[in-house]
Amino acid sequence: MTTPLHPRTTIPAPVRVQAPGKINIHLGVGAANDGYHELATVFQALNLGETLTLIPGGTRSIIVQGRYADAAVPHDETNFARRAVDLLITALEGERDVDVLRDLDIVIDKQVPVAGGMGGGSADAAAALVGAAHLVGGVDDAIVHECAVAVGADVAFLLRGGTAIGQGRGELLSPVLTRGTFHWVMATSTSPLPTPDVYARFDELNPDPAPAAVPDQVLKALAAGEPDTLAEFAANDLTEAAVSFMPEIAEIMEAGRDAGAVLPLLSGSGPTIGFLARDAHHALDLAVLLQATRGVNEALRTTGPAPGAHIVDGD
Ligand code: ATP
Repeated sequence: MTTPLHPRTTIPAPVRVQAPGKINIHLGVGAANDGYHELATVFQALNLGETLTLIPGGTRSIIVQGRYADAAVPHDETNFARRAVDLLITALEGERDVDVLRDLDIVIDKQVPVAGGMGGGSADAAAALVGAAHLVGGVDDAIVHECAVAVGADVAFLLRGGTAIGQGRGELLSPVLTRGTFHWVMATSTSPLPTPDVYARFDELNPDPAPAAVPDQVLKALAAGEPDTLAEFAANDLTEAAVSFMPEIAEIMEAGRDAGAVLPLLSGSGPTIGFLARDAHHALDLAVLLQATRGVNEALRTTGPAPGAHIVDGD
């Protein structure tokens, strides 16, 4: 049993936490089991992420602000950040004083596009878990991991950051060696593409999929820093399904390829497309071109790998 960091009579200071968004450098999808698809993915955390402020002694309000403050983000207990904190309360209750977590106000500075396949909601959950664990004086990693997985498959990776293989539903992680900085341009879409629809279409298109796998060549290319080999072997198995809903995804990928993008990749289930550029200058050129391409809402430049969820300000 751990002693609470703060005496019960004082309200702890707010804590501010950052968590990265992500791209799937490779996404292998297998058969569905119990409603979840078997995945074999290479995640990379991006320096384009969310900042959450957890304010103790509040009224359980959720305030969403920032570039992607969006009507689609729930303000109730279904918000992934709130769900994460509530799961941590349940996991610790009876053993620890968790009262400080019950009335938290949560302010989300949303810089990751909503429902774009970049894991913004999962980043919020990861940040909330790190902040909440801090407010109760630290929590065993295994408990935090369990709560993360209960919220969503990507949350465990966003706690950790870097570049990693995710298996199972994406929560069984092992680190991946990479070289240098990856310069990405993320082309967001003018219209949404719900994740469940894309997986359902994947099932229609692939009634008997091969087991999900990450090709060895992808891992070797990442370790050796060989972007051309990476481009040859990395893929996202959901691309065909996503394109069947939004043919402009294929056109946007082609536009990026024509402009010399090493690797155009659907991010998660889309509709955001990530383009790996050769360097920072090339990323700038690509972003300008993509910004002017039909169907692209914004072309956001970012880099990876980025650190996992971490505290930026707190007692
Ligand atoms: P992923 O790539 O992990 O599948 P995504 O990036 O496509 O996810 P999110 O932005 O995480 O999608 O949001 C998907 C849905 O989750 C939203 O449409 C919204 O209804 C719900 N949601 C719950 N909490 C949040 C949150 N904190 N931020 C964004 N969406 C949230």
